[in-house]
Amino acid sequence: MAPTRITKKSDGTFDVPDHVDIPFIIGDGIGPDIWRAAVRVFDAAVETVYGGARKVNWKEVLAGGKAFDQTGEWLPQVTIDTIRDHLVGIKGPLTTPIGGGIRSLNVAIRKALDLYVCQRPTRWFEGVPSPVKHPELVDMVIFRENTEDIYTGIEFPAGTAEAARVKDFLHYEMAVDFNFTEDTAIGIKTVSETGSKRLIRAALNHAVQHRLPSVALVHKGNIMKYTEGAFKGWGYEVAETEFAEYTYTWAQWERTKEALGEQQANTELKTAETTGKIIVKDVIADNFLQQILLNPKDYSVIATLNLNGDYISDALAAIVGGIGIAPGANINYHTGYAVFEATHGTAPRFADTDSMNPSSVILSGVMLFEYIGWSEAATAIVEALQETILQKTVTVDFFNQMTDGKLLKTSEFATAIVDKI
Ligand code: NAD
Repeated sequence: MAPTRITKKSDGTFDVPDHVDIPFIIGDGIGPDIWRAAVRVFDAAVETVYGGARKVNWKEVLAGGKAFDQTGEWLPQVTIDTIRDHLVGIKGPLTTPIGGGIRSLNVAIRKALDLYVCQRPTRWFEGVPSPVKHPELVDMVIFRENTEDIYTGIEFPAGTAEAARVKDFLHYEMAVDFNFTEDTAIGIKTVSETGSKRLIRAALNHAVQHRLPSVALVHKGNIMKYTEGAFKGWGYEVAETEFAEYTYTWAQWERTKEALGEQQANTELKTAETTGKIIVKDVIADNFLQQILLNPKDYSVIATLNLNGDYISDALAAIVGGIGIAPGANINYHTGYAVFEATHGTAPRFADTDSMNPSSVILSGVMLFEYIGWSEAATAIVEALQETILQKTVTVDFFNQMTDGKLLKTSEFATAIVDKI
């Protein structure tokens, strides 16, 4: 029997069978509505573009509420094993179980497959309502570190014996000069050189492969010197040691300024820009949040830590139309494992209303097709989605911000896209 699974070859590329199995998790809340819409778009694109020569066999695996109802487990091991066996998967949003020891199913999946990059492209589609005057200037790809930072869940609640022990340790053994009170909770932030460098390396590789002009290291190193400050330093180090022929860094600019003066440093920077080098710079996170509103055209690839990346993703998504059109992927670039998913959550209030925007999942599928090399299908979907929006036929999130839109249900929006493929 012909193989139906994607495999990674020794040269790092993928072997993708023409008839390929891809696992999906339907998701909770609005998940089933938007998945049903998205999968029709995926199948129509693959069928039309490849004239029937290629096909995806979507293979359902369980997680979230559906898994709990059927198996008593929120995230059965077989789900993780199946995604691992197939290299990639796509998922709808999952509810966070209350109690039961699992903090977040999404975090559990990322952890199980060590998906260290959370990659989120943000671009504007013509016709999408935006709160800013020039949303077309936003064209960025966020590389958010996905495994470290304060997301590791190492926390001790206020008033507990555990928190008291940590406070005693810090006070008496580490001579930390801080007035810990009884009601102080403790959370621990972890940032490693290995974790930071592999994320930044992925961002730099992306910039090289797509010939993008810059990589910005976004951090809060002015305050958190040994975690976020170190992230910045490791970023410059990776750029200068592993990507020297492709990059010019602001750290180099600083050194030249120190040694030879600002004019010489500026000449060096200009030459780097005109010869197509990737400019690697750094921005303090709070400043970055105003820069994306004031000077978005100055930013292209963003490499940042977990919490910053969480905030930045939603802020950027809002500029280009909101989280209803914000796709994402969780990727391990060494093993090739990748799980594609919308940025938003389950929006439980709107479950089964057939009203939400499926674009976030549709564009996550576009990322999946690009990832496995089926770029013709990806392009066909993007073009049909763009045309649908240009005709002002949109779901409620866009409709509410337009004066002359035509309101479609989730399923009708999918039909409108399919009709244009
Ligand atoms: P949410 O993202 O689910 O919804 C916030 C609001 O955004 C909604 O009320 C809705 O107005 C809007 N929205 C979301 N998706 C939309 C879409 N496709 N189209 C149009 N509008 C859309 O955030 P929340 O309410 O804070 O979280 C609900 C649940 O989702 C929680 O259990 C949370 O843990 C979970 N969650 C899951 C993921 C994930 O699976 N990746 C991510 C975030 C939150």
